[in-house]
Order: sequence, then structure tokens, then C-alpha cells
Amino acid sequence: MNTKSRGCLLGAAVGDALGAPVEFLTLDQIRDKYGEKGIENFDAMKGLKPGAYTDDTQMTLATAVGCIRHRQTCKDGKKCDFKTVVYQEYLEWYEMQKSPENRRSPGNTCLGALGSGKMGTVDKRINDSKGCGGVMRTAPAGIAYLPGEAFQYGVEAAAITHGHPSGFLPAGFLAELIAGVFDGVELEDAVDQCSDLLKKQPGHEETLDKVNLARELSGKGNPSETAIPLIGEGWVGHEALAIALYCCLTFQADWLKAVLAAVNITGDSDSTGSVTGAVLGTMHGERAIPGKLVDNVENKGLIIKIAEDLFKVRK
Ligand SMILES: [Mg+2]
Repeated sequence: MNTKSRGCLLGAAVGDALGAPVEFLTLDQIRDKYGEKGIENFDAMKGLKPGAYTDDTQMTLATAVGCIRHRQTCKDGKKCDFKTVVYQEYLEWYEMQKSPENRRSPGNTCLGALGSGKMGTVDKRINDSKGCGGVMRTAPAGIAYLPGEAFQYGVEAAAITHGHPSGFLPAGFLAELIAGVFDGVELEDAVDQCSDLLKKQPGHEETLDKVNLARELSGKGNPSETAIPLIGEGWVGHEALAIALYCCLTFQADWLKAVLAAVNITGDSDSTGSVTGAVLGTMHGERAIPGKLVDNVENKGLIIKIAEDLFKVRK
């Protein structure tokens, strides 16, 4: 049993499920509907099945299965291209979207790219999208691959559907960050290491600026409701990453506080909640996530099974 791998995937799923009912609401609308503190748990959710996750977790699990299959195929000595294996998993996700019960507000960029019949890569870009659909799904690459290599795998997974550097570089950053904190690197040091790798990539400026802003704001002690809007709303990759980093750095010791700060925003609450939940879930392990939330998240057993398989393939 690996508590960090479980913490990563359960953290992503619970964060996503907490943000799901408020993704398209402003902070004022969230407060009108759920009270001054906004979403605090699954109890108050109206109109949605409590604990149900969205496309973010569906695609995170698809990435995880892709990483597992890639590792297993490589081990058997067969030819294995990471992108192609992960692409197949994303195509299965795309097929799933045809049934209404599985359609959980999927992103148009992902649907468009996967419906095109072409696989995007960094060299052959599928579009010019900066959307956060790349970063929100790549945390598992940081469990399957080690620091130093996870960045590239995160980038490749995101570039399948997102062609702008601000769409795929945050995904590399997240995968590398997960790989670092999995190994026990302090969060600030892991952010520094990821920033060093980021700086070597063409088109990194926009992402680096937001990462630096998140660091700066997290040290100032301003309330998150005034700090987060200075970063953005998280609909694009570099903003979603930076909002999650801000929440992780500010509320580092408290998984729930960090995730609630990430979901109670005007913006892409399920994606920022999911990324925040994955990072601190990896860092602290499964036990940092309140048990009542873990017990009530959709497909808990399946998520744990995938998390254990994912850990087994880490070198
Ligand atoms: Mg979503």
C-alpha cells in the first residue's frame, strides 16, 4: 500500500468533486448559494450527486492508466511510445463522453482535439490552446516517473490536446512537482527545481511569471479571496497551476484548507481544486484528506486500485 500515490489520486478526485458544483459560479454566487464560507464538504451540494467528480478526474485516471501501460510495456522489452499509449486512453475517454451519465462538463479543447483523429505533439501542435485541460490531468506522471524525467512526460501527455506552451508546460511542471514531493522534497524546493526545468523550455515566460506571482503572493499573508484574483481565474493552464501553487504554499500543512481556498473562487474551481488536492495529497499522503470525503468520493475503490498499480510501476 502506498499512501502518497493514493493521496495523489484521491486528493485529485476529492478536490475535483468539491469544486464540481461551483465551477461556473463567481465567488459571490457561491456565497449566495452555500453561505459565507462557500463549499466546505460534500454535505451541502445541491443539484449534483455529492462526491461525483468531473472530466478532470476521468482524464487524470486515463493518464494514470496510460502511464501504467507504458511502464509495463517498456518492462517487457517491447517498443513503447508514451504519447501513443496515453493517446489511446484519452480516445477511450472521448468515447465515454457519448453516454450522458459520463459527460461531466468536458472541455471543448479536449473534445475537439480527440475528435480530430490526430494526436498533438510538441513538434506537431494540434491547436494553439492554453486551456487548463492539459495540466489538470497530468499529476499521475509524477508518480510513475522520477524527478528529472516526469516533466517531459507531463508535457507530452498535455500536448496531445493542447498546443500552446502555456497549455502543456504547466502540465510538465505539475508532473515534476508531484515527483519531487513524492520523494520528500520540501514544497518550496520542489517549486524551485521545477522552475529551473521550466526556464529551459521555449515559450516558458507566461507560466514562469504566474508561478513567481503565486510564490510572492503566498508569502504576503493576504486573504486568498484578494490574492487569487490577482493570479487569474484558472481557465488557462498557467493560471490553474499558479492558483494551485498559491493554495498549496499558503496552506501547506492543511489539505482541506488549501483545497477549499482553491475551489471557493471565481473561476475553474474543479480544476484548481483537483490540482491542489493532488499536490498536497502526494506530499502528506492519503490520511491528510478527511476520511468522510474519501469514503464518499465516487469510485473510491477504483481510484485506490489505480493508485496502487501506479506506484508499482515507479522505478
Ligand atoms: Mg471539470
